[in-house]
Amino acid sequence: MTRLLIDGAFVATVDASDTEHAIGHVLVEGTRIVAVGGGRASAEVHATADEVIDGTGMLVTPGLVNTHHHLYQWLTRGFAQDAILFDWLVALYPAWARIDADLVRDGALGAMAVLARSGCTTVGDHHYVFPRGGGDILGGIIDAATTLGVRLHATRGSMDLGESDGGLPPDFAVETTADALAASSDAVTRYHDPSFESMVRVAIAPCSPFSVTSDLLREAATLARSLGVRLHTHGAETVEEEAFCRERFGMSPTDYLESLGWLGDDVWMAHCVHLGDADIARFAASGTGVAHCPSSNARLAAGIAPVRDMLRAGVPVGLGVDGAASNESGQLGTEIRNAVLAARLRDDAGALTGRQALRVATIGGARALGREAEIGSLEVGKLADLALWRIDGVEHAGIADPIAALGLGAMPPLARLIVNGRTVVEDGHLTGVDERDVARRVATASAALAARL
Ligand SMILES: [Zn+2]
Repeated sequence: MTRLLIDGAFVATVDASDTEHAIGHVLVEGTRIVAVGGGRASAEVHATADEVIDGTGMLVTPGLVNTHHHLYQWLTRGFAQDAILFDWLVALYPAWARIDADLVRDGALGAMAVLARSGCTTVGDHHYVFPRGGGDILGGIIDAATTLGVRLHATRGSMDLGESDGGLPPDFAVETTADALAASSDAVTRYHDPSFESMVRVAIAPCSPFSVTSDLLREAATLARSLGVRLHTHGAETVEEEAFCRERFGMSPTDYLESLGWLGDDVWMAHCVHLGDADIARFAASGTGVAHCPSSNARLAAGIAPVRDMLRAGVPVGLGVDGAASNESGQLGTEIRNAVLAARLRDDAGALTGRQALRVATIGGARALGREAEIGSLEVGKLADLALWRIDGVEHAGIADPIAALGLGAMPPLARLIVNGRTVVEDGHLTGVDERDVARRVATASAALAARL
């Protein structure tokens, strides 16, 4: 097995004690981390390494874990720029209802290329639009992830509550409840790999309280538990969603989702901006995870999630970029700083430190996805998912604290991104694809989708 040594770097392990080494080393053998320590590696270790990366001027962290995205939205960046969630959705549904597997694959390539170039090794995606005749859309997303070499947590989402039944999406964009459940089951059977080193896992993910029937939410939870996979949805994102739930069901989004079996340690929910103290306590007690998406929440003026309170209560919180139609940046690395800034705007200067935000972006995300045993920290036995950030360039040379480079500064350039022991990004550029070709494919697919409107 190939042995890769990173020597002489600042190592932030993000283990349970937040162990850091100002000068440290990490040794990778095949797909696993086999040594992490302070000081430089011994001459014996050097002698057995197939490749040695001189870590001088680098910060090494666990690869970042994205817990919420809609990769297909890479094809619809720049639309409805000044709208709140419900108006933005209504503006975009007609375009999204015309996607197919080929378009989604190319959009996903673009979205994941940008994620990887911003330090992300594990991509969580939430795909919930499946037009009739659109082909194997999930297969297209998985193909794109495999091409780039990133770890994927795909979800088979769904919508079955059209406008004529009181839902938000137009009727032509929804499936029947039975079709959604059958396709979700099929997606798990075809693509879910539960193994420790898994590069593709599948979860079941009805879209949101205002686009999905109670029957689908309830039956999806039962189905996921019978198949041993996780559950994901949007929850408590906006005040309009809160009003929708109170009017239609006579309760808050959290009460509603709990009544359908949707709190549990096998569930993670995107946003959770509008949670009260009692909601947070129930999330913590049940182990329900949260995908915090500060940039998307700002873009859509949804509010700022109570991250400090959630972390204090012990809620598993990860970071998400959300779809690029509500966060055209699509970078996970910059979301660390945005999380710090947003938390402080909401609460106070102690609301979220850079180190806490790095934990959220790594081990927090791993917990939300149920992968904390495999990824999210640099520890012996874990999978070799690492980000090597350059902090000796003009952005960060001389900075008092390397973690402040990620938590407060400009996103540092990536020297390497390693996923499952393989180099996916080198000197800021993807190794598995021609980036100009990806850009051309994204432009062509975006134009093709626009032409279908
Ligand atoms: Zn979302």
